[in-house]
Amino acid sequence: MSGLVFIISAPSGSGKSTLVNGLRSSVLALDFSVSYTTRPPRGSELPGREYYYVDRAEFERMIARNEFLECADVFGNYYGTARRFLDEAHLRGHDLLLDIDVQGASQLQKSLPDAVSIFILPPDRDELERRLRRRSEAENVENAIIERRLRTAAKEIENYSKYNYILVNDRLEESIDALKAIVLSERLKHSGAPLSERDKDLLANAEKCLLPNVKERLQPILASFAASASQAVTE
Ligand code: 5GP
Repeated sequence: MSGLVFIISAPSGSGKSTLVNGLRSSVLALDFSVSYTTRPPRGSELPGREYYYVDRAEFERMIARNEFLECADVFGNYYGTARRFLDEAHLRGHDLLLDIDVQGASQLQKSLPDAVSIFILPPDRDELERRLRRRSEAENVENAIIERRLRTAAKEIENYSKYNYILVNDRLEESIDALKAIVLSERLKHSGAPLSERDKDLLANAEKCLLPNVKERLQPILASFAASASQAVTE
């Protein structure tokens, strides 16, 4: 295995966790970096599974000891990727998958320029709002928080062009297949092995999500966010 690093970012409510879980359950030798955070556990989350939960003092001690590959303040809480996950994945000969925000991704793109980055987008702003409202009913989240997540989403989406691949999460099964194709095709490219017909199909599926190949598909999505931002300004 090649020791690749895959970075996945997405606005809150894009369905990223479901996609990441689908990917992890179907691709071998792909370690998941469990981040550290100062936010409290949500719903059925468990320490060591979704996150390691620490207080701000402990997080700041970890920063001082240079234990993070990257870290960022997201929605008022610290989140960070521990350096040891990358070392452990390398030792095992596995690839590493990071689910981090756009700030963390841009830090890593400097320190790990070969990392493969994937940005997940909702089909449009209205669909993102519907998903956030549906989830908020389960989590008992206030309207103001949904509004803030929508504003943050619009800002995060402005960073789409810094990513290698863009995945529009319209239909779940297709999106999981595309995500798998991206990971497997990157492995194939790095292995240098001759390609079978099946490999070529995988590569073709992944290439559909390469940034230059999705520019047209992106226009209406970006426009839906831009329209609501300019509406907010004039209100
Ligand atoms: P949530 O609290 O909803 O699980 O995550 C909020 C945001 O923090 C998501 O965009 C998620 O990708 C991001 N995030 C999770 N772990 C990390 C991390 O280790 N570093 C950075 N920079 N962002 C993270």
